[in-house]
Amino acid sequence: MIINSEQRLATVLAAIRELRERGGTVPRKDFYTDKIAAVWARARGASAYAKLGDYSPDAFAALPVTRKDQLKSDPWGFVAASIEDSVKYYETTGTTGTTTPTPRLADDIIWNTVSVACAWQDVLRADDRVLSLLPSDIVPVGDLVAAVCEHLDLLHARAYPFATGISDWDRLARLWATLRPTALFLAPGVAMQVTRLFKQRGLLAELAASVRTIMLLGEVSVPAMRARLGHWWGATVYNASYGSTETGTLAATCRQDRLHLLTSANYCELLTPQGLVEVSGPGTGRLVVTPLNLHARPLLRYDTGDDVVVTTGCPCGTATPDVTVLGRAADGLRVRDSLLTPYLVEEIVYGETTATSYLLEAAPDRIRLLLERDVDANRSTEPERAIAVRDAFRHQAGLDGTEVLFLNSLPATTKSGGSQKSWKRSNIRILEAS
Ligand SMILES: [Zn+2]
Repeated sequence: MIINSEQRLATVLAAIRELRERGGTVPRKDFYTDKIAAVWARARGASAYAKLGDYSPDAFAALPVTRKDQLKSDPWGFVAASIEDSVKYYETTGTTGTTTPTPRLADDIIWNTVSVACAWQDVLRADDRVLSLLPSDIVPVGDLVAAVCEHLDLLHARAYPFATGISDWDRLARLWATLRPTALFLAPGVAMQVTRLFKQRGLLAELAASVRTIMLLGEVSVPAMRARLGHWWGATVYNASYGSTETGTLAATCRQDRLHLLTSANYCELLTPQGLVEVSGPGTGRLVVTPLNLHARPLLRYDTGDDVVVTTGCPCGTATPDVTVLGRAADGLRVRDSLLTPYLVEEIVYGETTATSYLLEAAPDRIRLLLERDVDANRSTEPERAIAVRDAFRHQAGLDGTEVLFLNSLPATTKSGGSQKSWKRSNIRILEAS
């Protein structure tokens, strides 16, 4: 982190005090009132929120949600700070290809880093050697992991295997053998690719030996995929975090591999058929958040577009609610009378088979599932696995007659983890009706 003044050091200490002291507790109402009032005041500096009157709890309660398309169509309209005051500049690439400029102030980075570090320190160990296989350029995720490692004083290296001219799979394997990482940070799709590659080279057992923790982030992963990866690597695999470049981190894993809402850093509501309701107990709906520590681009009641299930009572003992992210509401695929979601399909694929990726070919009246067989797959079991997949689609999705085919390889694009990227672009091929 960029700490070069007493003022920034004071910010770090304030963040540690506020976030560590609260730990996994749910803040009281007056905490939110004060924090939201401050976000509100900062937001009024952005043209998109310039018409807001003075803050009051009633004014906040009457405020409509900020939709993603509003932000995407006028990203600078939501920026409340000057670019000269920013210390980092990122961009996100939406599924449509348009980019959202994302400047960050030191305050944004410090608060998010401390918030995530407080959560991850429960699953990381002081003697961990961290290898981050996340991209370092343009998007913030690589910087976040590095900043958390710095904050927690963990040895770490970055080696994104697609950084042309710097890193590739050969270089990665050599670095791996020297560093002997104990904890990996990477996207689920890259985890699948690196597993296949090391298996093909006969290196997996040797390189997996030092690894005890795998932190998946950047895309949503389903429990079945994490269990599969955990088995292959002999490691504990966590869904490390959930959030976006726009919002910062909204939830982080606990030791039980559940995503707890970071309720001291975000005010969370659910959009339900009954309207917006504060997240206080179990529920389902679309997650709407007011991040409490955004400075460069404050957001009020931002609709994430993600359908979530909120539960409480995690066995880890943390009092904050945890979420299961089902993916984007718009990402569902209708086949006959059934709605297929990325979550449902991936639970079946990675739960019933050892496939390393999949392509779903869908017509209005039928689906065909192409599965990429694992490098060391036992082909004699494939007919039996195909029946298990067909049965699962019948029982869980109400879809009969799913055709299942195993192939030696599928395009790398299918490994990009559907749930938070564009599932329909990466893992679906639409066919004509027969
Ligand atoms: Zn927990």
